[in-house]
Amino acid sequence: MAALTLARAGLRVRLIDRARFPRDKLCGDTINPGSLALLDRLGVGAGIRAAGIPVRGMTVTGPNGASVIAEYPADIAGVALTRRVLDQALVDAAIGAGAEFDDGLTVTRAVVSEASRVTGVFVRCGGAEHEVRARLVIAADGRASRLAGSLGLSAFAPRPRRWAFGAYFEGVTGVTARGEMHVRKDGYIGVAPLAGGITNVCIVRGLDAVRGAEADDRGADLVRSARASLTRLAPRLAEDGQLRDRFAHATQITDVAVLGPLAVDAQGSGWPGLLLAGDAAGFVDPMTGDGLRFAIRGGMLAADAAMREVATGAAQHAALDRRRRREFAGKWRVNRALRALVGSPSGVALAARVAQYWDLPIRSLVAIAGDVALAQTVDRREQSTGPSLA
Ligand SMILES: Cc1cc2nc3c(=O)[nH]c(=O)nc-3n(C[C@H](O)[C@H](O)[C@H](O)COP(=O)(O)OP(=O)(O)OC[C@H]3O[C@@H](n4cnc5c(N)ncnc54)[C@H](O)[C@@H]3O)c2cc1C
Repeated sequence: MAALTLARAGLRVRLIDRARFPRDKLCGDTINPGSLALLDRLGVGAGIRAAGIPVRGMTVTGPNGASVIAEYPADIAGVALTRRVLDQALVDAAIGAGAEFDDGLTVTRAVVSEASRVTGVFVRCGGAEHEVRARLVIAADGRASRLAGSLGLSAFAPRPRRWAFGAYFEGVTGVTARGEMHVRKDGYIGVAPLAGGITNVCIVRGLDAVRGAEADDRGADLVRSARASLTRLAPRLAEDGQLRDRFAHATQITDVAVLGPLAVDAQGSGWPGLLLAGDAAGFVDPMTGDGLRFAIRGGMLAADAAMREVATGAAQHAALDRRRRREFAGKWRVNRALRALVGSPSGVALAARVAQYWDLPIRSLVAIAGDVALAQTVDRREQSTGPSLA
């Protein structure tokens, strides 16, 4: 999003990713209505809608059989599509706007000048490390950001230590045009419909057993030991009284992808010469399914700050931090509260009991998590003023 916005503004942009594209990425694969509205605003929403299928709300269930169906307002929807397709479409849009794209190139660390300013990055190519100079660097390298981590701007949160395990299935029954969040005493299970009868399943749970090796390569050893703990999702789904029948004849069609620890705390939004965007700027928990909203809007804000920095020469990371806090702080509070609730078995049990008789709080949370208000605001603004990028 940052590359697209900056390239459109006429800046020379080099976009670097260590993966070869198209690439898979463990995710719930739902773009909530607010995120989709932001993509519309950037002029890429229509293609993404056409490639995916609409998501019209959420079904939330609890461990006691409680179940709440929360539909978005009639004219509002999100979209479900794999990150393989979504991220390639976004990269194509950035290239189309003039960005140069180098995939298969790993950034190892920032180049920091004697004046303590980031002036580029080191990339690993073959066995060698090369320096890539840049007037400004935007780190959008995800939760385990090397750039943010190497400058001490982010670290895995000491608690909670949760891990995500995801795979695609065929033949799941009872799938609707809603996303699903099944909250259990030991974590939660997200289920999302995809085109072609495919279903995305993500299991998130605490894994205290997977500890130690904190000083390794930003979690690679931890991921290996977490992966060993859950190689197939079916046994966990078969244990679940509410999901068992729906998965009885389903087939897991991909290996299990593993990510963790999930929560990342960030200190600030950059460094002189460096701006953070997306999960690199911090990640609370995937339960609310709104990481892409922060990533998309965060990319737009970073691009805006970058343009100011290029125009004025004054470092903008502190201003970006203030802007991010102004826009995101309210939602971060809700997300942290939900993360704490899901981490407490007694809290989950109480919320599930309340939801059996009073579903309004869950319905309101689904609207907040879906950024429905943002979708409505962008829609209204667009109708009155036409599309804008700011
Ligand atoms: C289990 C799970 C389910 C989720 N479900 C949803 C959902 O349904 N909806 C939603 O909105 N959000 C969801 N999220 C959150 C969402 O996936 C993230 O918030 C989003 O992907 C953040 O985008 P990003 O661009 O910051 O990071 P990423 O998508 O992680 O992209 C980072 C990129 O940086 C590249 N990279 C990493 N390190 C380097 C390096 N050293 N050098 C070069 N390139 C590098 C990677 O290859 C990658 O392409 C979920 C997250 C998880 C873990």
